[in-house]
Amino acid sequence: MAKKSKPLDFHSKWRYAPAPESSDHVELKTSYGLFINNEFTEPLSGKYFETINPARETKLADIAEANQADVDRAVKAARKAYDDVWSKMPASERGKYIYRIARIMQERARELAVIESMNGGKPIRESRDVDVPLAAAHFFYYAGWADKLEYAFPGKPEVRSIGVAGQIIPWNFPLLMAAWKIAPALAAGNTVVLKPAETTPLTALKLAEIIRDADLPPGVVNIVTGAGATGAAIVNHPGVDKVAFTGSTEVGKIIQKALAGTGKKYTLELGGKAANIIFADATIDQAVEGIVNGIFFNQGHVCCAGSRLFVQEPVADLVIRKLKDRMETLIIGDPLDKNTDIGAINSKEQLGKIKRLVKIGIDEGGTCYQPSCSLPSKGFWYRPTLFTDVTQASRIVQEEIFGPVLSIQTFRTVEEVIEKANNIPYGLSGGVWTDKGSKIFKVSSKLRAGVVWANTYNKFDPTSPFGGYKESGMGREGGLHGLSPYVNLN
Ligand code: ADP
Repeated sequence: MAKKSKPLDFHSKWRYAPAPESSDHVELKTSYGLFINNEFTEPLSGKYFETINPARETKLADIAEANQADVDRAVKAARKAYDDVWSKMPASERGKYIYRIARIMQERARELAVIESMNGGKPIRESRDVDVPLAAAHFFYYAGWADKLEYAFPGKPEVRSIGVAGQIIPWNFPLLMAAWKIAPALAAGNTVVLKPAETTPLTALKLAEIIRDADLPPGVVNIVTGAGATGAAIVNHPGVDKVAFTGSTEVGKIIQKALAGTGKKYTLELGGKAANIIFADATIDQAVEGIVNGIFFNQGHVCCAGSRLFVQEPVADLVIRKLKDRMETLIIGDPLDKNTDIGAINSKEQLGKIKRLVKIGIDEGGTCYQPSCSLPSKGFWYRPTLFTDVTQASRIVQEEIFGPVLSIQTFRTVEEVIEKANNIPYGLSGGVWTDKGSKIFKVSSKLRAGVVWANTYNKFDPTSPFGGYKESGMGREGGLHGLSPYVNLN
């Protein structure tokens, strides 16, 4: 008979000492206007809304809310900058401006990282080591393409910019998403009106300051703040030639309908429900780290999160036990503490959504497991959670939760897991863990997902395209592919 393993004891007296990152160097204004023509201006709407720190529920600043007239002002500024300056400028000069943005971002990396964690709730380790360096890397990467566009699209007689790009981004990677949108647009010779998400506007507004300090010609990048109505005003503005949206599938569908027949180009990066597949021949400890990274990174607020785990039957018990043990060690709390693994949920609304879906999971018969960690009394928090006893039909298996909630199913054969993994409306990403290269090729080529990681997860690089199939959207961002939506080739 197999020896029963004793659960590990993680409740020893040994604890990490607090290691908070200082926020003394952070300069935040009490209120931010709209960034139009390189100036922060009062909104015509006369309205402001509060942006808060979700870990403390304290106010950080008042933020202008742009109405249609404000968006019109921003689009006109972008159009004028396009016609008069940016589209006429030698491409090598445009490249220099983009490099300059990248370098200033690096110089101010610490401040950007702290603000990202304060406004979004994500652990400082993550904003410091992932979000900010990757955002700067995107500007560096696309700066290099600015004067080499004819090599990016060989055989095409002419590579022309489009005009004004309207860009709408979500709250999970605020600065990084701004970089994904702005860098290729500028490199291809377009001007921009960008709207950050209503809960996380601060790093985009800091980026506005950087853009001003980089001496970009006024109007080349305009940043307007507000919620869905502001986003809709950008999408529907007749002066916008291309729309780039990252956010929920629900809003993506609204935007797609609004744009049908308008002739505007668009790219949509929408939701996901990725399969992370562990074969019995995988290196199990490494795979467990990959599962944790796949679903608990950024509190699971990741469109490509590995939220559906498929484990091959012979190792299912082992993987689940190791995963539970590992979850006991995760440190949840102050996003500014360098030891924190899991920070705050981005907003009260998102926390409500996670709780609703977890309740549905339990009501539908799933078995829910959470580690015993304590949570801070103030702020929005959710324990890392896993579900077993779920089926393909369970709502928590089919719907995107956008939180630290993992559903686990088992499988026997390669064919079975491919079918299960693809049986979903989404197709953004996936993960495969095995020591057989042939299996990696077989499975990754059959997964209907834009990105598949093998023996790793959540790896990003500006040279690599990212985007989805099915309800995960259309178009690619990153790499050479990310330039195509910003140029006309005929
Ligand atoms: P999430 O569910 O992740 O909050 P949303 O799709 O609601 O994602 O939001 C992503 C971005 O889209 C945000 O900047 C939000 O303000 C914006 N947005 C929301 N509704 C609309 C809309 N109808 N048209 C354009 N943008 C919108």
